[in-house]
This record gives sequence, C-alpha cells and structure tokens, in this order.
Amino acid sequence: MARKNSIWPLPFATSCCGIEFMATMASTYDLGRFGAERLSFSPRQADLLMVMGTIAKKMGPVLRQVYEQMAEPKWVIAVGACASTGGIFDTYSVLQGIDRIIPVDVYVPGCPPRPEQILDGVMKIQDLIQNESLRRRNSPEYQDLLASYGIE
Ligand code: SF4
Repeated sequence: MARKNSIWPLPFATSCCGIEFMATMASTYDLGRFGAERLSFSPRQADLLMVMGTIAKKMGPVLRQVYEQMAEPKWVIAVGACASTGGIFDTYSVLQGIDRIIPVDVYVPGCPPRPEQILDGVMKIQDLIQNESLRRRNSPEYQDLLASYGIE
C-alpha cells in the first residue's frame, strides 16, 4: 500500500503528449492526489517510467538505457498512440511502439490522451503494484520477460 501511494514517476516526454502530462500535474487534475507528485528526472530515483510522445528509432537506445538504470521494482506506462504504437507516424524513422525495446505495463490510448486517461493509467499501475507478489521480480517468468528484451 505504501509503495502504491508513493510512486515516483520519471516523465520521458518528447512531444505533444508531454503537454497533456503537464496538465495532469497542474492544479485541476493534480497527480499529487495519488501520491505521485514527486517527479524524478534521475532514473535511479524513479519507479515509474512514463513515456509520452513520439520516440524516434535513434532515441530508442537512450530510452532503453534510462529503463535499465532504474532499480527494481519498476513499472512503465506508454502514454498516447505514439509511445504505444508509433501513432500516425508510420515512417522509417519512428519506433512503432516502445514495447519493441522495453516491457510495458499499461498503455494509455489517445492522440493525445486526456488528463483523465493519464490518471486512469496511473491508477491501473497502482492496481498492479497493490496486487503484485513480492516474489514476482525474482520469478523465472519475469526473468524470461526481461531476457526476451535482451535485458539482464
Ligand atoms: S500520440 Fe498524438 S498527441 Fe501524443 S505525441 Fe503522438 S502525435 Fe502527439
């Protein structure tokens, strides 16, 4: 319960969906009501990676490095169509979904998603955290999941 209500998000915002996240943090929607107002711009002090915006293939290795620098347990939200699937940018230079390089826990649809949808995504993560077994991160299934991404 403590972990669920004290998430430290790392906003990896590259374009327009990041603006919606700013609205989500501001007074009207106030992510702080969910105990997640302490943003971390250091991967080592974050447990929720929020990817918001178009991720170019050249940026993929950077995103992956940020993910790898986060300590376990950690969770990932793909916010918006671009982070989830590449969105409208079906081009040679855009990553067609961040789940091609890192595991994703929750996808938030929309272009851009409304702040309510982003809050809903955070609440879904809270549900995952509350129901997650303390042993999950050491389980063979989780190790296999990371191995499928080439992450040790
Ligand atoms: S999903 Fe839409 S609003 Fe979000 S970054 Fe992509 S183009 Fe912009």
